[in-house]
Amino acid sequence: DERAVIVGAGLAGSWTAARLRQEGFEGRITLLGAEPHPPYDRPPLSKDVLRGAHEPGADAEATGLGLDFDALGVELLTGRAATGLRPGPRLLDTDQGPLPYDHLVLATGAEPVTLPGTQGRSDVHVLRTLDDARRLRRVLDARAALVAVGAGWIGAEVATAARAAGCRVTVVEAAGRPLAGTLPREAAEPMRRWYTEAGVELRTGHAVTAVRDGEVELADGTVVGADAVLVGIGSRPATGWLAGSGVALAPDGSVRADARLRTSAPGVWAVGDCASYPSARYGERLLVHHWDNALSGAGAAAAGVLGREAAHDPVPYFWSEQFGRRVQYAGHRGRDDVAVTRGDPGAGTDGWSVCWLRPDGTLAALLTVDRPRDLAQGRRLAERAVPLDPGRVADPSVPLKAA
Ligand code: FAD
Repeated sequence: DERAVIVGAGLAGSWTAARLRQEGFEGRITLLGAEPHPPYDRPPLSKDVLRGAHEPGADAEATGLGLDFDALGVELLTGRAATGLRPGPRLLDTDQGPLPYDHLVLATGAEPVTLPGTQGRSDVHVLRTLDDARRLRRVLDARAALVAVGAGWIGAEVATAARAAGCRVTVVEAAGRPLAGTLPREAAEPMRRWYTEAGVELRTGHAVTAVRDGEVELADGTVVGADAVLVGIGSRPATGWLAGSGVALAPDGSVRADARLRTSAPGVWAVGDCASYPSARYGERLLVHHWDNALSGAGAAAAGVLGREAAHDPVPYFWSEQFGRRVQYAGHRGRDDVAVTRGDPGAGTDGWSVCWLRPDGTLAALLTVDRPRDLAQGRRLAERAVPLDPGRVADPSVPLKAA
């Protein structure tokens, strides 16, 4: 009997297992995950779960993936971590002994980057897992003074939830504006106001140099009071366990997959937050840490295992809910793109968007704030790569469409 083993029971791994069975794989499917919980969905962790929109214990409802592994005939091993890989004899080493495989899918996701010198501190939090979210919710319930390090997606969503819970919140960001790593000035600078209006103190251009009991010190010597600290400064692929296995990694630590998500080892695929792939659409290798990429990649990895290899090259898509707004992003920007703004980012409650057009007039990417229709239309236009008329793009009363 053929055996497919999938390492990492997150979104990508769980859906690869499901798709494999749904698409007709008849052998044994084993899905193993290091966490003690059955697979769950991560985006609600920094939203519903943290906001306490669901009672403790109802987390499962907020975060469930809606997959019935028994019905699918998928053997789920929770609380079991892969520790190494031997591609020659096709053996996956785990903390509870080796597992033989015919096909292996790596889906170990990413892990948060931590602040140096803060390991082991009970007042310093990250947010990646259900256990992290439950721990952080206790901080919010206690209305603690919270310092969030990093004004990225996680920092903004946690700040939103913490303010709703009545916490005093300071967000400290080393760069000069929120989301500096992801968005250019024209899109990110207007977001500064969202923090202020929500009663969050945003301190950009400040690095945190030390965390001590009850306070955080910034590079200029300023001290900010903090009962608890949330570190949201990014995540990196969880691939340390692959060191020495011979599976090729990229300099960013991701598994270096090909266009069909195959790795350098025979019979081994990689998908989701742990894997980078060469995008023909964008002419560069991409490492995407978004929900949609994990889900669509699962289809490609399952197809690969079944010998019907399919290229994985979607238009990246991401959403966030912060400060009462729905923020969505689709596409991938290049160096020469020109930004065209739709609507007034400075206006109170109205939505707005920024479109980035390539020199040939096609849509490279767009960011929308409370304009889901722009996103839906723009995402399709980015997929089709047809030229747009910049004048029409700039008019928020006209739908986005091909020139
Ligand atoms: P993961 O979901 O990280 O799953 C990997 C699993 O593998 C983990 O359970 C891990 O414990 C396990 N694992 C790791 N190493 C091993 C090992 N050696 N052995 C066994 N198991 C192992 N994206 C969006 O597009 N929109 C959002 O609003 C959004 N919100 C988010 C909010 C939060 C708080 C977080 C953390 C992420 C959010 N994301 C969002 C990103 C999205 O959740 C991820 O892109 C997605 O979960 C990636 O899925 P994955 O299966 O690749 O990795």
